[in-house]
Amino acid sequence: MPWSHKKPTVQARNDIAFSRLCGLIEAAAGELHPDAVRYSGEQEVFRHLIDLGALGPGDGLSAGILCPWCGGAELAEISFAQGQHRGYCSDCGWVDLAVDQVKPLRVDVARIVRWLSAGLGLAGRYAYEALVPDTLWRLGELEHRRKRRAVFFGRHLTHPASVPLIAQQLQAVCAPNCGVVITTTPDADPTVLAVGHRLVPLRAVAHLRKGGFVIENLDAWLDVVDTAEEPSSETSLRLLHSGRIALIAGKQHKLSPQVYRFLSVLEAAGGEPVHKRTLADELDIAVDRCKGTDIFKRHRDVYRTFVDHDDAGHYWLKPIPDGRAI
Ligand SMILES: [Zn+2]
Repeated sequence: MPWSHKKPTVQARNDIAFSRLCGLIEAAAGELHPDAVRYSGEQEVFRHLIDLGALGPGDGLSAGILCPWCGGAELAEISFAQGQHRGYCSDCGWVDLAVDQVKPLRVDVARIVRWLSAGLGLAGRYAYEALVPDTLWRLGELEHRRKRRAVFFGRHLTHPASVPLIAQQLQAVCAPNCGVVITTTPDADPTVLAVGHRLVPLRAVAHLRKGGFVIENLDAWLDVVDTAEEPSSETSLRLLHSGRIALIAGKQHKLSPQVYRFLSVLEAAGGEPVHKRTLADELDIAVDRCKGTDIFKRHRDVYRTFVDHDDAGHYWLKPIPDGRAI
């Protein structure tokens, strides 16, 4: 079959550009030298990314720019006057330069995070938050088949310096089986994930459009996740402070403010008995109303699982048999 010299379709061009963009988001170095772009053989791809708003000029001027006319000499001097950059070449003299010939190109990762947040329909409801600077962001929560999932965007998920920090954050802010980490990292290190969190490649769920992303197929990815998920059997209070949640055999129990404070006091005591007078003070209630069974009236499972008491009005946290941190 003869080679087709047709121009790529808009769709194909977007796909190529998006693939290149994912690589740039993932690359450690933030800026591309204008000559690297010019001699990449992919100027059209970069131009497209600039038109879409995914790439923009960085700060300052790049050093060591080759003369765009002769390509043989570095420009000795670059001036800017009346809205025009000019450079001096020892062979060609003063030459006019476009912005993308003198400034580095840069992916604004914060902008990519905003696009993703908007594309997922989260932007109006959640303010995205960086959990690991420049590496991991929490975008908000999505409901999928009656299950709430926290959605993250992450990159550099194989960098030895980032992996422990990412793992720690995901563990701290999200219950097992509830995290979705959208990423540009190919073959991301699975140890960044706490139990049951899932990785979704950005390229698998997003398409590039002018000024943003369109998100597709995320539901399909989450459906796969649901059937592949191993049930968690974790029982712990490790989400007590980040989410006011107790985990019992993997199930999340959202706690009332009063129960949360009660458990916090016991937790602070590190397993030592706490008298109800102390608890009553902390909860700002009368001592005779400080009775575990009453306070945990709507959290009986939580009470049975985590709290022990004696007849003298002391309460303490039970040790959890499987050794998960309380
Ligand atoms: Zn020249």
